[in-house]
Amino acid sequence: MYNFDYHRPSSLDEATKALGAGDDVKVVAGGMTLVPTLKQRLAMPSDVVDLGGIAEIKGVCEEDGAVVIGAMTTHAEVAGNDTVKTKIPALAALAGGIGDPQVRNRGTIGGSIANNDPAADYPAAVVGLGATVRTTKREIAADDFFTGMFETALEEDEIIVSVSFPVPEAAAYQKFDNPASRYAIVGVFVAKTGGGVRVAVTGAGPCVFRAEEMEGALAGNFSADAISNMSVPADGLNSDIHASADYRAHLVGVMARRAVAAAS
Ligand SMILES: Cc1cc2nc3c(=O)[nH]c(=O)nc-3n(C[C@H](O)[C@H](O)[C@H](O)COP(=O)(O)OP(=O)(O)OC[C@H]3O[C@@H](n4cnc5c(N)ncnc54)[C@H](O)[C@@H]3O)c2cc1C
Repeated sequence: MYNFDYHRPSSLDEATKALGAGDDVKVVAGGMTLVPTLKQRLAMPSDVVDLGGIAEIKGVCEEDGAVVIGAMTTHAEVAGNDTVKTKIPALAALAGGIGDPQVRNRGTIGGSIANNDPAADYPAAVVGLGATVRTTKREIAADDFFTGMFETALEEDEIIVSVSFPVPEAAAYQKFDNPASRYAIVGVFVAKTGGGVRVAVTGAGPCVFRAEEMEGALAGNFSADAISNMSVPADGLNSDIHASADYRAHLVGVMARRAVAAAS
């Protein structure tokens, strides 16, 4: 039996208050991960706070040259948004490559990064573009947000409001996906920004990480040739029925070269 109280606030203030309503309160966005988790009884919250009625955290806008995406914006909305397609086409393409139409029309950017699945696509864009995660309490730099497998810097009573993406000079994302789910076996987001080159890797390890050696090589020469023989150490990478750690390390090099070529 499910046994929780359901709350549907219409503002962030109401949502924040609802977080104090019980001893184990969960927020739900599109439910793409949370609902299966409930069905398997892996979570049995006392209260569920549905963010679907809060208009202020949906949609895309431009702010001081950055593209700001509300936490409750679905993957399909990001993929089809004209501002995202014009300013950061790599981000629109990444969102359009997530899962299937059902997942893209329910799943949200806030839910994806709060969940921090090691094979999720958005963490690579958030770190690769040096984005800022805005919450009900503070702003968190991308490099500080993702802290481990399914772990983030979010506190229990903190809700993601939006993600602010600086517009890069050039960027691209390439993934070697699982053909059933389209989760990344390995995905690499490369961005050339005013502050340098960033290379973010998802799917390969327990959590998104930056390939700093590649960033250094690309800073002097932004071309696939500059990283022609590079990959990352296989130590600590994921190894499962889909791919060994050695294979994932190899894929990081291949996906990074493809991303640089696509971004050049
Ligand atoms: C079949 C399938 C295929 C998929 N394929 C891919 C893929 O190819 N690539 C990919 O990247 N992802 C994939 N996903 C994941 C999907 O895209 C969703 O992003 C993910 O499931 C989160 O879903 P959601 O936004 O509905 O969040 P929910 O399931 O509602 O919530 C997920 C977690 O985030 C928390 N949360 C949600 N919103 C917030 C917020 N604003 N602030 C704080 N905490 C919050 C919830 O409490 C919960 O713990 C797939 C999922 C499925 C079911």
